[in-house]
Amino acid sequence: MNARLHRNNRPQGCVGIDIGGTKIEGVLLDAMDRVVDVYRMPSHSGENNVVSDIVRVARILSNEPLPIGIGIPGQVNCATGQVRNVVNLGIETLELGERVSEIMHAPVYVENDVNAAAVGAAEFVEHVDGNATVVFLNFGTGLAAGLVRDGQAEHGYSGFIGEIGHLPVDPNGFECPCGQRGCLETVASGGAVAKLWPSANPPMPDLIRKARQGDKRANDVLGKVAHGMGDVIQIAAQAYDPQRIIIGGGMAKTGNDLIEVIQAELSRRAEGCRFLNTLDIASKIRIAAVDKPIGAIGAALAAKRA
Ligand SMILES: [Zn+2]
Repeated sequence: MNARLHRNNRPQGCVGIDIGGTKIEGVLLDAMDRVVDVYRMPSHSGENNVVSDIVRVARILSNEPLPIGIGIPGQVNCATGQVRNVVNLGIETLELGERVSEIMHAPVYVENDVNAAAVGAAEFVEHVDGNATVVFLNFGTGLAAGLVRDGQAEHGYSGFIGEIGHLPVDPNGFECPCGQRGCLETVASGGAVAKLWPSANPPMPDLIRKARQGDKRANDVLGKVAHGMGDVIQIAAQAYDPQRIIIGGGMAKTGNDLIEVIQAELSRRAEGCRFLNTLDIASKIRIAAVDKPIGAIGAALAAKRA
């Protein structure tokens, strides 16, 4: 057999890289999508630094020209690999896919970080039907949703599908840095909880603990947060009718205690509402595999499936 052809036809692995404002995380997947290596380091701001950080991590993970998937915050054009307005990495406009591809001599696919995490998170949720929609809710510093169908992220018409953090739901709510008032993100995000419940410990577990001990202020704050999360989950469930709703982002690390708070909020809403009762949204909720590098894994899978 022609050795070169043989090599080209061999099922190959791929590299996935998730870059954010503080760290960059890369994985090497083998041809069966198993994680065979993980590498993390701090990220650096600035367009050239972002390119060189990504190249460095990709080279550490593989010296073969494997396909590379990159998950990055901001506005991403998946077709061209261009990224725009990544504030916490100091990027205005960067032809990220093109530049990394030129250096690495490999195909590069760039995806929004929440979409990449959604693809990764969906891989670890049990019993998802092939063509079912899965919604991933990223309760991180901000709030955004990712939609996955058949293992691939949906992008919508302009690419901002899932940007639900700046949906204003409460005219009497907090002012949002985006200029509106009462955005979902101002109550239903890790960033909001850190602001409403400053704590040396991770704030959400502490908030839940204090509320359970009967602390009145903790109960008020938790009520606001739970209500916001309930809104987010209902929007996801009713707008997209997904098979699963995955709770992700930093808040997912709270684990079962958070699920209990969410279930209680959803039961309260369903009480006396036959419509909500029928939807049984609570049964669709899962927590993301927080112990796994889902952002990097999802970026790799997105590149492979693109
Ligand atoms: Zn807003």
